[in-house]
Amino acid sequence: MTRELCIGVDLGGSNLRMALVDRQGSVLARSAEPTLPAAGLDSLLSRLLAGVGRLQGEATRIGARTVALAVGVPGLVCSDGVVRASVNVPGLEGVPLARELSLATGLPVAALNDANACAVGEKRYGAGRDYRSLIALTIGTGVGAGLILDGKLWTGADGAAGEFGHIPVEPEGRPCGCGSRGCLEQYASAGAIAGEGGDAAVVANRARLGDAAALAVFAEAGRYLGIAMAGVVNLLNLEAVIVCGGVARSFDLLAPALLRELDSRTFSVAGGRVRVEPGMLGDDAGVLGAAATAFETVL
Ligand SMILES: [Zn+2]
Repeated sequence: MTRELCIGVDLGGSNLRMALVDRQGSVLARSAEPTLPAAGLDSLLSRLLAGVGRLQGEATRIGARTVALAVGVPGLVCSDGVVRASVNVPGLEGVPLARELSLATGLPVAALNDANACAVGEKRYGAGRDYRSLIALTIGTGVGAGLILDGKLWTGADGAAGEFGHIPVEPEGRPCGCGSRGCLEQYASAGAIAGEGGDAAVVANRARLGDAAALAVFAEAGRYLGIAMAGVVNLLNLEAVIVCGGVARSFDLLAPALLRELDSRTFSVAGGRVRVEPGMLGDDAGVLGAAATAFETVL
């Protein structure tokens, strides 16, 4: 039987990543390029399709067959595969992405939120493998999350669940792009850690050298993360919280304040049970989760 492969696409606000993946989660070929959202939807879709074509060609070259494709996008994706809102790639709004890509490629196509794709990736192939119920946080430019309950992705009644970054942590706090104020994202995203015109990785390096101001920035972000996390843990009694995204590289700097806050605000049964761990898949979480979702569409 011909070996069957899927293509996972991680369409982020900055990077467009694609991978040709087998059922065990091994990446056989990959590509990455800038998303360039300002270049417009037609440019984006034609570059996406060109990349898919190259990976399909690679599958043929190694004697395999591409059977499905899935795309993770930074926005609200309804269960019909239509992108309803995307702050970072606004050109995608209203686009029936799954149907358009399916027409263009002849493959079954699924579209899902990028944080959900990361959660599925970590659950299937990474740090979440041993857990049935978890939340995977993606802390980068924004703060997103994917929720897996009893082994299944929970996307809510309309596909809008998992907006961990918009849990209020300061009732009268900083205004947020979502229209509310005091959202976690305003205190614990890469942007919040970096400050005006800064870079979160630079702040992390300073913290590792013992800079007190930089350490305080991570302690504050960790504290706010712990406050929001305690609410979720008390509500859902999860087995694990997996921390993914660029800021996960600074997990060690966030963890002390985060765990202290979590411990002080949770009931002992739920708080004692939950494991808080960094993700294992790094930048591959999104493409691997998309590929796992693609395999499910052809089951
Ligand atoms: Zn918000």
